[in-house]
Amino acid sequence: MSGLLSGLDKFGLEGLEGAILFPEAKKKRTAESPTAKPVVKETDLIFDKGYECPACGSEFRAKTVKTGKAKLAEVEMDLRPRYQNVDPLKYDAVVCPECGYAALTRFFNSLTPVQVRLIKEEITVRFKAASKAEEIYTYEKAIENHKLALVNAMVKKAKSSEKAYICLKLAWIIRGKKEHLPTYVDNYDAIIKESEEEENRFVKNAFEGFRRAIETESFPMCGMDEHTTIYLVAVLAMNTGNYEVASKLVSSVLTDRTASRRIKDKACELKEALIQKIRSSR
Ligand SMILES: [Zn+2]
Repeated sequence: MSGLLSGLDKFGLEGLEGAILFPEAKKKRTAESPTAKPVVKETDLIFDKGYECPACGSEFRAKTVKTGKAKLAEVEMDLRPRYQNVDPLKYDAVVCPECGYAALTRFFNSLTPVQVRLIKEEITVRFKAASKAEEIYTYEKAIENHKLALVNAMVKKAKSSEKAYICLKLAWIIRGKKEHLPTYVDNYDAIIKESEEEENRFVKNAFEGFRRAIETESFPMCGMDEHTTIYLVAVLAMNTGNYEVASKLVSSVLTDRTASRRIKDKACELKEALIQKIRSSR
């Protein structure tokens, strides 16, 4: 399965693998620099947090990152935070092991009665829990959890911004997986290529979703103010080859008097990168 939701069959959700999120296509992305070797243990940075499922009422525990423990190394152009030694992004999707409801932590508790019914009808009736939780989440586990959050968002008819944000996070996690993949593994090149294609599909869908969201939803969006969101959509437009859209959006940030210095500086860097990309594409 090469679909967006591939790998969900083991949860009994194979019937939902073909569901359509946004129209899709592919585009290239450049390789990222490798991260530093781990020295801090990941287990020191996470703990089992108690949750009460808003869909079925079960109480369960899930791995969560301790706030302030992970040290930020840099923020990449598409706003992906990269941390020293660990990748806390792996832990941002919470899955109820009883009913299959899953969401990003930010959205986990907000469910309407209609959404609870949709999740019961579409997810819970099919859902089979995965095997026991590990001490830390592998990238595979993190990707599965986020795909479960995505299929839940589709079923509960979430806003475009929420679906787009999950797609963006999936792209970031897949990038982390590529960076942490040891070069000695079998099929290294094939895994990198496949991961790159999967990352590109999620970047493309994040772009489509956020583009729709900035036209139809109000700000702040997924914790981002208007200028930050528009800047992000401009980056995603560039990374999916939509240079004209990217140019328009980056100009709108640069000429907006109410935009902060910080975001204007980022927009300047983006404009430079965009000019380079346009030049090299000719
Ligand atoms: Zn539940």
